[in-house]
Amino acid sequence: MKFDTILIGGGMSALVCGIRLQKAGRKCLMVSAGQNALHFSSGAFGLLGRLSDGTPVTEPLKVLFSLPEKHPYSKIGTDKLTEYVAAVPAFFKECGIELHQVSPSDTSRSEVGEAIVRNGYRMTPMGTLKPAWLAMKDVTLLESKDQMLGSKALIVNFAGFLDFNTRFIAEGLERRGTSCRIEVVKLNDVENIRKNPTEMRSVNIARVMTREENWKEFGHKVGGLVKDEDLVILPEVFGLVNDEITGWLREMIPAKVMFIGTMPPSVPGIRAQMLLKKAFEAAGGTFLMGDTAVDPVIEDGMVKSIKTQNLGEIRLEADNFVLASGNLFGKGLEATPDKVTEPVFGLDVDFPEGRKDWCDEDFFAPQNFSGFGVVTDNKFRAVKGGETIGNLFVAGSEVGGCNSLQEGSGAGVAILTAMSVADNILAL
Ligand SMILES: Cc1cc2nc3c(=O)[nH]c(=O)nc-3n(C[C@H](O)[C@H](O)[C@H](O)COP(=O)(O)OP(=O)(O)OC[C@H]3O[C@@H](n4cnc5c(N)ncnc54)[C@H](O)[C@@H]3O)c2cc1C
Repeated sequence: MKFDTILIGGGMSALVCGIRLQKAGRKCLMVSAGQNALHFSSGAFGLLGRLSDGTPVTEPLKVLFSLPEKHPYSKIGTDKLTEYVAAVPAFFKECGIELHQVSPSDTSRSEVGEAIVRNGYRMTPMGTLKPAWLAMKDVTLLESKDQMLGSKALIVNFAGFLDFNTRFIAEGLERRGTSCRIEVVKLNDVENIRKNPTEMRSVNIARVMTREENWKEFGHKVGGLVKDEDLVILPEVFGLVNDEITGWLREMIPAKVMFIGTMPPSVPGIRAQMLLKKAFEAAGGTFLMGDTAVDPVIEDGMVKSIKTQNLGEIRLEADNFVLASGNLFGKGLEATPDKVTEPVFGLDVDFPEGRKDWCDEDFFAPQNFSGFGVVTDNKFRAVKGGETIGNLFVAGSEVGGCNSLQEGSGAGVAILTAMSVADNILAL
């Protein structure tokens, strides 16, 4: 079987790259082993929240020049990066995902032309604030760290739902001057899930809440609980398929409504993954779900074909290949006690020799291992044994050169490297 491009992944980066290629008329196959980071995502996208020394970043496009040469953003280059950043909201909108961002400051306007980016802040399930570039429509972004959300908040949870920690959220809000009251709501269909405590997870509640009678009953009950509060906080368990229910709940409840993420799995993240996959398939792409790429043939510095675990002896050929298999989290990298490897092609990986430099014993300190990635040239072509493979491109968190977790650039690196790789392939 022959394709123009075979993508190995199925997360944000493989999907963005695949959609861009497919829309440009290329015939793509995506091989996806399973869960990806979107299933755990906050529904907010980071572009650059901090420099590697921890300095907070307010306007990401203004500090690109200070990033090291091997950083993926430096490889894309300021002009292309600015163009891609501006194009992202429209790209996602075409896939059915509406994104919003905080308004820019006047000072950012003059220096970066049309693409104006100022970081907003999203509230985490722990009640803390994290910088974010874009957010899905139902995820609230604060204009600044000091923005007051409300003077009095009502935080409502489902009885028995432990993955939404109302106490942490209340503490976070109270530190910011908002007084809080916590209430729980019982609904018959949710009580049925509760009979088996292991089923009491965000996605199962979201499934129950897709039924009109359930979200309406929930909305009425929450509305009835509001006294003099100007803010209502709810868990993000609405809208597996689209974000309409969150809009309807906002209309029903007589206060400003804010949805805050639960412990994983993430309902907005799963929705984003499903909509991107749908867009890839609608554009004509083929998606092999639950299959793993193995056993490549590489000849004369070019990948000729791969196999997959499910298709057995059938070889899949393509002109170009994209490795978007995530890092250690996605199993795009594997670690043994003394080395870190890329398991499909055996590519060169950027990691420190001494294992003591892989991680910090302080769990909350920045961790080097989250920055390990595959070595690439300036066009994101993979390097194996010091030699570039001409038709194997790397996108997303598998790309080395930055520590996305530490610098808050996860989605940015995934989306922008994917766009760049697609354009590099189209330019061949
Ligand atoms: C838990 C978690 C939460 C995060 N939350 C956020 C957030 O809220 N905001 C943000 O900006 N960033 C977040 N990030 C950063 C995240 O890395 C990026 O946002 C982005 O989603 C990464 O996408 P990716 O496609 O590069 O990799 P992944 O999402 O890891 O996808 C890799 C995919 O490749 C598949 N795969 C691996 N090997 C093979 C193989 N041999 N054959 C076939 N398929 C294979 C995996 O199964 C997986 O589906 C988070 C990261 C993690 C780990």
